[in-house]
Amino acid sequence: MIKWDGHTHSEFCRHGSGEKTKLMVEKAIELGFQVYSITEHAPLPPGIIDDPELAADFTLLPHELDDYFSHLTDIKRFYSGKIKVLAGLEVDYIDGFQDHFDQFTEQYLPYLDDLLVSIHMIKGKNGIAPIDYSPETFDSELISHYGSIEEVHRVYWQNMESLVNHPVHPTLNKRLGHLGLISKYIKRYPIEYNETGYKPDFERLFGLIKNNGWDLDYNVAGLKKDLCHDVYITETMMKFCRRHRIRLIYGSDAHDVKSVGQFYDIYLARARDSVPSN
Ligand SMILES: [Zn+2]
Ligand SMILES: [Zn+2]
Repeated sequence: MIKWDGHTHSEFCRHGSGEKTKLMVEKAIELGFQVYSITEHAPLPPGIIDDPELAADFTLLPHELDDYFSHLTDIKRFYSGKIKVLAGLEVDYIDGFQDHFDQFTEQYLPYLDDLLVSIHMIKGKNGIAPIDYSPETFDSELISHYGSIEEVHRVYWQNMESLVNHPVHPTLNKRLGHLGLISKYIKRYPIEYNETGYKPDFERLFGLIKNNGWDLDYNVAGLKKDLCHDVYITETMMKFCRRHRIRLIYGSDAHDVKSVGQFYDIYLARARDSVPSN
């Protein structure tokens, strides 16, 4: 069994703590991690966020990528022999912006040991809207646009299926970031996935995840969110993961030192069968 934190942010992140990446890596070494992926938010396609300050708060800016990757090269060298650091990015998959996604991943392929692809945004009332920014935005941009919570979730899973079917370079280590993030505000905007008739076609989706070579980010950040208090990969989804033998890689989604390795015990307890062995 390999102890791997597959989803972490860095000192480049402006909505994080700003703590030094090295201190985060040292915390991981202290906790006995053998592998550590640094997966900063990649720049969004032009035109998604108009306000430049807000855009800078969300992700790296295009002109920062060179510095980011040389920072990672330094860190890899500095800790070599102590922990295997993987240079990564968390790239957004946005419906309608697939060309940008392809061009971007192609361009940065030589620098990447690891790639997380996440959906943080879907179409909403005023263009592309974040699903995880605030409960108020979730309501005003998404629920009011689609007319029901069920419809918002349906669109998320539809986008996810499109992502899973989207070709990504075959040699790249690739994972779906925090599958199920659409449930971040589930306690305020509740929905039942089975009992009351809402049911995305998980059998088909998880089959595609397996067949198309995706691993999943077992992201534990939801456990700390007041309106979620759970992991995003629910027990229902876990049944499909087990059936299709999908690899689940633990992801702290740490934006600060203290969150590195958080809830690793919960990952082991709930996903033990799906932990990678090498
Ligand atoms: Zn972040
Ligand atoms: Zn994310």
